[in-house]
Amino acid sequence: MKEVPAGPAAAEMEEKKNLTPKERLQIPTQVMREQEPGERIRNVKEVPFGYTDDQAKIEASRCLQCKKAPCVAGCPVSIDIPAFIKYIHEGDYKNAVHTIKNTNILPAICGRVCPQEEQCQKGCVVGKSLGGTDKAVQIGKLERFVADWEMSQGKADPPAIKPATGKRVAIVGSGPAGLTVAADVRREGHEVTVFEALHKPGGVLIYGIPEFRLPKAIVMREVENLKAMGVEMKYNMVIGNIHSVDELFAAGYDAAFVATGAGLPMFMRIDGENLNGVYSANEFLTRANLMKAYSFPATDTPIARSKNVAVFGGGNVAMDSARTALRLGAENVYLVYRRSKTEMPARIEEVHHAEQEGVQFLLLQNPLRIVGDDKGWVKQVECIKMELGEPDDSGRRRPVPIEGSEYMLEVDTCIVAIGNSSNPLIPDTTPDIETNKWGNIIVQEATMKTSKKGVFAGGDIVLGAATVILAMGQGRIAAAAINEYLATGKW
Ligand code: FAD
Ligand code: SF4
Ligand code: SF4
Repeated sequence: MKEVPAGPAAAEMEEKKNLTPKERLQIPTQVMREQEPGERIRNVKEVPFGYTDDQAKIEASRCLQCKKAPCVAGCPVSIDIPAFIKYIHEGDYKNAVHTIKNTNILPAICGRVCPQEEQCQKGCVVGKSLGGTDKAVQIGKLERFVADWEMSQGKADPPAIKPATGKRVAIVGSGPAGLTVAADVRREGHEVTVFEALHKPGGVLIYGIPEFRLPKAIVMREVENLKAMGVEMKYNMVIGNIHSVDELFAAGYDAAFVATGAGLPMFMRIDGENLNGVYSANEFLTRANLMKAYSFPATDTPIARSKNVAVFGGGNVAMDSARTALRLGAENVYLVYRRSKTEMPARIEEVHHAEQEGVQFLLLQNPLRIVGDDKGWVKQVECIKMELGEPDDSGRRRPVPIEGSEYMLEVDTCIVAIGNSSNPLIPDTTPDIETNKWGNIIVQEATMKTSKKGVFAGGDIVLGAATVILAMGQGRIAAAAINEYLATGKW
């Protein structure tokens, strides 16, 4: 367990309620305790333990309560951050949670997985004054703390639901976008049914992000809260296959929200990608997380037990795959990424944890082909070294191969984690829903209305692979527009 850096105890802080900004800036950032790397790669339990009560109050006392708080502007759902932090400082956790839940129904999840360093914490005045985002007030960790506190209190108070309107809304997909809309639309008194293709709800929160980053009990609890509000969940329902969107309307639904995500894996189109032992990150993580392959044979789903694993990519999905492979017993896990660490899209915390756990970063390298043995199983991957050239369209420096630097890496498993694209089933079976050239559904940004009357869309199916909080943000916009549409009938 990591030591917490020395700082004033909460009781001491109490005595100094009226700290000057200068005094507040001197309070050290509170670090969450976490499992030691050597211990945690042998289990799937969550890595950090969260703040203690004292730590939360001390961290909260670092906030300067800025009038024009830039942190709020950086949060895609505009949580009143200074207000909830003030409540934590005063020990009023109930009001802290209520403040957050006014705009974010999933704080235990966002507190854990939001890229805070790019969002709320990026503009924090404390971080700016101390010269680094890592020194900002730890908003996400505080959010997680109060959300966990609420869970520890037993059943959450269900929100008030307005009288029944007799209107029905179909939500397709139970990821963060779908769950957000379900809550906001149900509160207005409409009947809500969520249709989910898989046998469990939560989308990527359940099948993609591993248990050691986001315990599944947290997601299931949020779904139970929705059910307690009267939201109906229907599983194993592939819309576009079992029922079309038009059939949902024919069955009496008045509006539909499409939140089917970006679950279509991209491949590199190199030789050997069809060999045994090559996984898309989606398949690998779904087997490991949703189907709990880490407990095989106690659970039904097997997964190759690998010794040497190459993961291709540099985002959160690649980090999750590499860290999962270690926990499944791999001796060497190589993360092959064609750019340098600076350009990695993964969250800093995930990169740091992966390094601590022994993932070997092969930066500025790119796979050229995968080589198999005579039985069709992966044996090696040929890589080439790269250097950074001029910036490309994304503004990042373009990786350029170094001629003659090819070499062979001995591996028995490859995991392709270079990105996902939008799920095509709904657009394919509902031709009057317009999509762009990447297959993302086109919407009016202010309302999330699609080209088809009564159909709204949001989350990764609109944005392409993005983030939990952006999916939720779009869900909130869509829910407000759905409520308006059902109240007025105006499209
Ligand atoms: P999803 O979460 O993808 O949910 C879509 C749901 O729709 C799924 O349950 C799917 O089964 C269902 N569905 C699809 N088609 C149909 C159909 N035809 N009928 C019925 N149901 C259907 N974001 C972060 O902010 N932080 C992170 O740390 C982070 N890590 C990630 C790690 C991984 C491995 C992955 C894959 C993504 C990660 N993301 C992260 C991205 C984030 O999870 C997504 O942006 C977010 O989940 C998108 O939410 P969504 O509701 O749009 O879709
Ligand atoms: Fe920050 Fe995400 Fe919480 Fe908003 S929801 S305050 S971005 S952690
Ligand atoms: Fe507090 Fe930082 Fe937000 Fe200012 S910017 S209110 S210091 S969290």
